[in-house]
Amino acid sequence: MPAVNNVLVIGGGLAGTATAIQLTRHGVAVDLVEVKPDIAAIGSGITLQGNALRELRRLGVWERVSRAGFPYNNLGLRAPDRDGTLLVEFPDVRSGGPDLPATMGMPRPLLARILLDQAIATGVKTSFGVTVAGLEQDATGVEVTFTDGSAGRYDLVVGADGIRSATRRMLGISVDPRPVGMGIWRVFGPRPASVTRTDLYYGGPCYLAGYTPTGEDSLYAYVVEDSGDHSGLTPEQRLARVCELASAYHGPWDDIRSALTDPSRVNYTNFETHLLPAPWHRGRVVLIGDAAHSCPPTLAQGGAMALEDATVLAELLVEGDVLDDALWDAFTARRHARAAEVVAASNQIAQWLLDHEQGDIPGLVHRIGDLVSQPA
Ligand SMILES: Cc1cc2nc3c(=O)[nH]c(=O)nc-3n(C[C@H](O)[C@H](O)[C@H](O)COP(=O)(O)OP(=O)(O)OC[C@H]3O[C@@H](n4cnc5c(N)ncnc54)[C@H](O)[C@@H]3O)c2cc1C
Repeated sequence: MPAVNNVLVIGGGLAGTATAIQLTRHGVAVDLVEVKPDIAAIGSGITLQGNALRELRRLGVWERVSRAGFPYNNLGLRAPDRDGTLLVEFPDVRSGGPDLPATMGMPRPLLARILLDQAIATGVKTSFGVTVAGLEQDATGVEVTFTDGSAGRYDLVVGADGIRSATRRMLGISVDPRPVGMGIWRVFGPRPASVTRTDLYYGGPCYLAGYTPTGEDSLYAYVVEDSGDHSGLTPEQRLARVCELASAYHGPWDDIRSALTDPSRVNYTNFETHLLPAPWHRGRVVLIGDAAHSCPPTLAQGGAMALEDATVLAELLVEGDVLDDALWDAFTARRHARAAEVVAASNQIAQWLLDHEQGDIPGLVHRIGDLVSQPA
């Protein structure tokens, strides 16, 4: 018997949908509320490392994901010189196992759609444009009131509501994300034939420039610079800014830049990071994914960590008969140190870049690759 009979999941991102799917499959009744009226119709790309792919396969969506994304097994490092000289191409760690690609690029909205479809098909009760107005818990459950005036009582509430988690605030946890000092411009566009894997260019006018194929016809490309407030720029000015910053990068970047014409597909985000000390629960409310930890995407592991949090939580809830300290201790033991290492390594790379210090980035990438190759 699962440790819980009914669960409220707050947030329909990777962590929330993955938790909901896995609990519902085992007979737990799950309500999922997502504050947005719908999943995003447009968005950038996402790089899914092997350990994320392993979790997606567990969720039963691997067939759809593999058809929609662009798999590859190598990572390229290029120089910020006039030819975009390829310095080295090395095999990426196949952290999901030998039968999965090392990495896959995907359009984010497609991934969100696939997970949401799977949640609905599994029997998750989803509500969009609704969130939690209040939480009150006692020894046996959580009374929840919703912004649409409805209410419910749950054995457990999972706060999977992202980096600005309102659930975190409702629990009175005051660990907030701090700025890292850098920001990333991401632009979604057509994939030229010259782009068949992620290539990274360290140095030049930006800390980092790179691109990732997300499908036969698409990619996302990115440049990382000092953080700033670009909210006053028009879409056209944002596209011009990206193209100007990227003009120092060559090789496949030349093909990419000339095909970037859609100003509506440019997105800017400042890097932030935080890590909640253990435990991530208060009574019968637990935080997972970006609500509990976040980091700059220098290792592209944030999504994988969110999916792993979901798997471990669901597994413990389904296998444990009772929601007790032993269950929460087991959750902490399997998640906290692993997420903390990924956050620290991601921040270390960002710090090396900020300090213009020649750190051993390939070494760190491989160390984390080895760590996350062990199932969560
Ligand atoms: C610039 C950037 C690039 C990144 N690139 C990668 C990458 O390539 N690969 C990778 O693995 N990771 C990447 N990440 C990290 C990754 O995006 C996150 O770690 C991951 O999305 C976390 O999933 P989540 O479900 O915890 O949170 P989110 O994806 O943020 O989902 C939270 C959901 O909750 C909803 N929500 C918010 N508030 C409420 C509320 N009050 N009530 C109900 N719903 C609410 C939101 O609308 C959202 O749908 C990147 C992060 C950044 C910032």
